[in-house]
Amino acid sequence: QRARAAIADLTRSVAGFPAPGVVFKDLSPVLADAAGFAAVVEALSEGFDVDAVAGIDARGFLLGGAIAHRLGVGVIAVRKTGKLPPPVWSCTYDMEYGTATLEIPADALDLRGRRILIVDDVLATGGTMAAAARLLARAGAEVVAVAAVMELDGLDGRGEVERALATPVPIRVLVTG
Ligand code: 5GP
Repeated sequence: QRARAAIADLTRSVAGFPAPGVVFKDLSPVLADAAGFAAVVEALSEGFDVDAVAGIDARGFLLGGAIAHRLGVGVIAVRKTGKLPPPVWSCTYDMEYGTATLEIPADALDLRGRRILIVDDVLATGGTMAAAARLLARAGAEVVAVAAVMELDGLDGRGEVERALATPVPIRVLVTG
């Protein structure tokens, strides 16, 4: 409830970014606010029993690190392409605007059998979350839940995430916008 109020009060809508016709939901002011950040992190952590949290580049890193700390587990960075030394697992996917590639290390982490919560700020078409889920599955991890601060209406991000996962998992979002 506190999280939803902070999101409603502090989210900024930016029309025409990053492409004409797109309304970008900027959650930066929510994360920059002490009470807002604490409430969002608490709401996205509550009740999850996982071995690690995977945060998606870049605002998912901010949330994922704090959520992992709160849950008493480690954090994994799911990175945009070109940042990690080889070898990497890589997944290219379509986005609301253009295509993108996410990567995780192929040999630096042993993710086999680890139960993972994936975190990002916004779930739009779901392509990003689905790509992260596919990467982690390829590395042998078990994605047990996904969470985002906001789900954008009418894009069926949820459906895309569900199609990427072999078995249904909880998809937690705090607000839709
Ligand atoms: P998707 O792959 O679900 O279409 O897009 C989600 C990804 O793009 C997330 O990593 C998210 O950070 C970014 N994104 C897409 N639309 C928005 C938006 O309106 N606001 C913010 N903050 N991020 C967005």
